[in-house]
Amino acid sequence: MGYTKEDVLRMAREFDVKFIRLQFTDILGVLKNVAIPVDQLQKALDGEMMFDGSSIDGFVRIEESDMYLRPDPNTFVIFPWRPQDGAVARLICDVYNPDGTPFAGDPRNVLKSVLAEAAEMGYTMNVGPELEFFLFLTDAEGKPTTITHDKAGYFDMTPIDLGENARRDMVLTLEQMGFEIEASHHEVAAGQHEIDFKYSDALDVADKIVTFKFVVRTIAQRHGLHATFMPKPIFGINGSGMHTNMSLFKDGKNAFYDPTTPDQLSETAKYYIGGLLKNVRSFAAITNPTVNSYKRLVPGYEAPCYVAWSCRNRSPLIRIPAKRGASTRVELRSPDPSCNPYLALAVCLKAGLDGIKNKIMPPAPVDENIYHMDAARRAEIGIVSLPANLAEAIDELEKSEVIKEALGPHVSERYIEAKREEWDSFRITVHPWEVEEYLTKY
Ligand code: ADP
Ligand code: MG
Ligand code: MG
Ligand code: MG
Ligand code: MG
Repeated sequence: MGYTKEDVLRMAREFDVKFIRLQFTDILGVLKNVAIPVDQLQKALDGEMMFDGSSIDGFVRIEESDMYLRPDPNTFVIFPWRPQDGAVARLICDVYNPDGTPFAGDPRNVLKSVLAEAAEMGYTMNVGPELEFFLFLTDAEGKPTTITHDKAGYFDMTPIDLGENARRDMVLTLEQMGFEIEASHHEVAAGQHEIDFKYSDALDVADKIVTFKFVVRTIAQRHGLHATFMPKPIFGINGSGMHTNMSLFKDGKNAFYDPTTPDQLSETAKYYIGGLLKNVRSFAAITNPTVNSYKRLVPGYEAPCYVAWSCRNRSPLIRIPAKRGASTRVELRSPDPSCNPYLALAVCLKAGLDGIKNKIMPPAPVDENIYHMDAARRAEIGIVSLPANLAEAIDELEKSEVIKEALGPHVSERYIEAKREEWDSFRITVHPWEVEEYLTKY
């Protein structure tokens, strides 16, 4: 795209924009908004809009609360569902300190610095995410439930698929906002859907992921449904993942492709896979950030639980899709859509670069079904598990210098602190399962 400030001002006039939402995310990936009337747009584009950082999770202490927003003109887009006269547009912003330096607690800045590290090595990162979500009914008061009357399954068609109309509206809206939708389909579980958009560079995709979640929720609401990106809303059926397809490009060419090797994967691709496998336990707390994330990473529901890769089957953590040439890519299947996409892409890239810098060769690919192996066989070929819960994942993150370096000390410390609190709150709660299991037994 490449919009300038002048383009943004012109488009705002042309489309009769009345309000601009300045957006950024906190360290947990929650989208934040400041709405300004259009006559403040020039000032905003000049980076003069201030806000109180101390009121945002994981940002700063009261005494250093003045933060500045610098909108990225490329992210200008009009909300298609708002009135056409007196339209509402948004701009995604970077967060800056009063002295003009990028704020270390801004996830978008975290991703930008790992991207800069890749750029120094000559690489750009391309990402294609596959976000899954559930559409649930709301009750008489409009509160979300976990009920779906939809009994459809993978790729099913109307009339059973009640979410179809909502999903169609989501796709049309996303297209109006500049998404190139490649596919949208009903997923395996009842009420579960997937919408895929075309890959692009990592920063653009991270922006698109936050936008995607926000649009899907908004459109669902307009259809009287609740969309959730919670990784495992219902026990006993598939959870929602965010498979992350990644490739590195160098001089305009896919650096993972090498037609001269037997599997047509370059050495760079192999090292990237090696780096992901080495670091995946350490970055799970970022790609799978909630207590609930680990309820998805269990055997039997198409989600990975073992650290392995394969070109053939879909059970491992990393799958190499058959496509080659410009589409050569690594599909990491562990991330889920509750993650902060800026941090998730930053740690995935960092892990891959670690592999490239240190020439980490991955172990042999595993083409047998890992879920059919017993623990002894897995141990024999050196297959370890992903963290079993958030507590284990936080411990792993805390031990990893590589991943903490990607996040920077500010985000690492606050993130670990926030996640420990989250785990503790879960740990001390008495859950329905315990009451069911123990109340009458003891
Ligand atoms: P699956 O077969 O796992 O269901 P999908 O077709 O749903 O995969 O999604 C594949 C994703 O990979 C899409 O977002 C697509 O744009 C993306 N993709 C294609 N080529 C590349 C590439 N070179 N780098 C990163 N992502 C890519
Ligand atoms: Mg898919
Ligand atoms: Mg597909
Ligand atoms: Mg899917
Ligand atoms: Mg996939």
